[in-house]
Amino acid sequence: IWGLCILKRICQQCHAEMVNDCAVTVQGGMYGIKISRKGNGLFNKASAIPKAAVCPNCGGVAFYIDEYKQFKK
Ligand SMILES: [Zn+2]
Repeated sequence: IWGLCILKRICQQCHAEMVNDCAVTVQGGMYGIKISRKGNGLFNKASAIPKAAVCPNCGGVAFYIDEYKQFKK
C-alpha cells in the first residue's frame, strides 16, 4: 500500500512527494516503536524499527520500514 518505489514515497492524500527517513519516537518516552513478527524457524522471524515519511504539502504521515523483505512469507 506504500507504493513500489522506495526512494519516492507519494502521499496517499494529495499525491505529493513525501520526505522520507524521519525518525519515529514516542513523546514522553525514551523508546521508539519496534515492529516484529514471531516465526517458527530462524529465518521466519522479522523485526524492524519503523520510519516515517512526512508530506510537506498536507501534513500526512506514512510509516514504513526498510527491512520489509523480512516480513515476506
Ligand atoms: Zn499530502
